[in-house]
Amino acid sequence: MKVSQTFLPTLREVPADAVIVSHRLMMRAAMLRKLANGLFAYLPIGLRSLRKVERIVREEMDAIGSLEIKPTVVVPGEIWKESGRWDTMGDGMLRVKNRLGGDFVVSPTAEEAFTALVRDELSSYRQLPLTLYQINTKYRDEIRPRYGVMRGREFTMKDAYSYHTDEASLDETYQAMGRAYRRIFKRCGLTVIPVRADTGAMGGTGSEEFMVESEIGDNTLILCRSCDYAANVEKAGCKPDFAAPADLAAADIAAAAVPARAKVSTPSVRTIDELCAFLKTDSKKFIKTLVYKAVNVELDLSAAPGCAKLNRRAAAPDAPKSYPEAFFAVAIRGDLDVNETKLAAVLKASEVALASDVDVERLTGAPVGFAGPVGLTLLPVVADETVTAMSDAVTGGLEKDIHFEHVAYGRDFAPWLVADVRVVKAGDRCSVCGGELYEKKGNELGHIFKLGYKYTKSMNVSFLDEQGKAQVPTMGCYGIGVDRTLASIIEERHDDDGIVWPMSVAPFQVSIVPIKYEGAMKEAADKLAAELEAQGIEVLLDDRTERPGVKFKDADLIGIPLRVVVGDKNLPKVEVKARGEKEPRLVEAAAAAAELAAAVRKELAVLNA
Ligand code: ATP
Ligand code: MG
Repeated sequence: MKVSQTFLPTLREVPADAVIVSHRLMMRAAMLRKLANGLFAYLPIGLRSLRKVERIVREEMDAIGSLEIKPTVVVPGEIWKESGRWDTMGDGMLRVKNRLGGDFVVSPTAEEAFTALVRDELSSYRQLPLTLYQINTKYRDEIRPRYGVMRGREFTMKDAYSYHTDEASLDETYQAMGRAYRRIFKRCGLTVIPVRADTGAMGGTGSEEFMVESEIGDNTLILCRSCDYAANVEKAGCKPDFAAPADLAAADIAAAAVPARAKVSTPSVRTIDELCAFLKTDSKKFIKTLVYKAVNVELDLSAAPGCAKLNRRAAAPDAPKSYPEAFFAVAIRGDLDVNETKLAAVLKASEVALASDVDVERLTGAPVGFAGPVGLTLLPVVADETVTAMSDAVTGGLEKDIHFEHVAYGRDFAPWLVADVRVVKAGDRCSVCGGELYEKKGNELGHIFKLGYKYTKSMNVSFLDEQGKAQVPTMGCYGIGVDRTLASIIEERHDDDGIVWPMSVAPFQVSIVPIKYEGAMKEAADKLAAELEAQGIEVLLDDRTERPGVKFKDADLIGIPLRVVVGDKNLPKVEVKARGEKEPRLVEAAAAAAELAAAVRKELAVLNA
């Protein structure tokens, strides 16, 4: 292709709102233009690279027997009501009404659409396992779209959904997806870190996210220095740094080695730091108690202490095992923070958030800063595991300006639930090997997830098993952000002059820059382009009348892996240079096509290996 025949409005200036490298380079290299916040148009050169990522994804999906379909992007609200997500998706989901007043959704994801399709077609176990996918437009009304297409409102996602007779079959597909994802990112020239991820409140049984290390990533990854443990902080656990509860039982709390609990006056002392200073002790001696409000709790609270109102409701014969909202106290060792994702998973809640000051006061009888697990009657207490080892602690006293000293777990209070809800931090120890954990910032490119029965149950999917009995299939879902993957390649592969594409995703593989597009230079450039194109190599020939320096700058900016300069000084030789190299080599023009084609194939083979 000739530059004069394409649409390549490269920019010298960086648009003011482009704060990360990939966004800047995608704008400057004429890959992208912004229409509105979070809404971008791909220009021809950007689309070529986007399509290449899509092709890689498609080839790897097809290779594991995942079948591509093309559902609609706009889907009836009805199916979202069936799954229950019409009410829980919030404002991120774009809802529209048609002329008859019917509810529709611009798909932010497609569990419902695929499951509705499968439900209508599935009858026998013989049809399973079944994995379907699409590479299609998604819309999410992100609160803060940013970083160009990294977090857009409209974007392209590959999403696959699989249906199975049993857990073993689901696991097989889940593992195959994991391997396909590793291959996809390798072929894109990316270094990804697969991490264990949260499976959420709905009881999925396995989840892995594919992250790239990134300063602008929204995720914190916890990695081990000694083994390959890697987890999203939302999910990360660590080796206990407290005596196990069994040891504690053997210890001498009951034998009153710990003095009796005592009130201590702590006027205007609220924060842990203030308390540490006031009582001249260490934050590890405190049991910090926080009040949380949880939304859509799918847990049976009928036996939860303190839930008087909830108890009454749950005692009714048709009592729901789901509560639109419920309050909990969370007790944790004073030097630690509560991981809200873990807490939500424990409570089977769609969301948790700190309760308002008013609610705290109402439920604990004291202003914020004086909550404690001892004598708390209006709230069920969730204790972090660390608390079970605390036999001589300081806690809030449920009264203004009062704390308790010498509080022993088990003696002075018993929680409703014990769970791991701590935030794991750098310096904690690996739960697998005991090694030191450290943190990195990560950006999520893909996610694979064993969903289990959430959608197939709520949407009434069934098949007949070998015995002719109706069964519900189990399900997995698997997403990749295509635009975010493309942008991440640029983040990882660029220099001061522009993009340094891997051969697999480059919009063109070879750029030919005649110093002047006339006479012998034109002839040699045209001939080389024709020879390369005949071999299936993608060529961009800069036939503009610009100065050579301008053309070189654009070629570097666009990031085409191989560059050939055709100048009359060197003919019948031409200059060949790879994008990453400093100095060009002189090559016989007659031999250049074969050499370049071989170089292209070699780099592709390495990426695809
Ligand atoms: P995030 O936490 O970044 O919002 P997510 O976990 O909500 O992402 P998924 O529902 O798992 O995203 O979607 C699958 C993939 O789609 C993500 O791994 C990501 O690559 C991509 N993706 C999600 N939201 C966006 C967006 N607003 N813009 C571009 N890509 C996105
Ligand atoms: Mg995700």
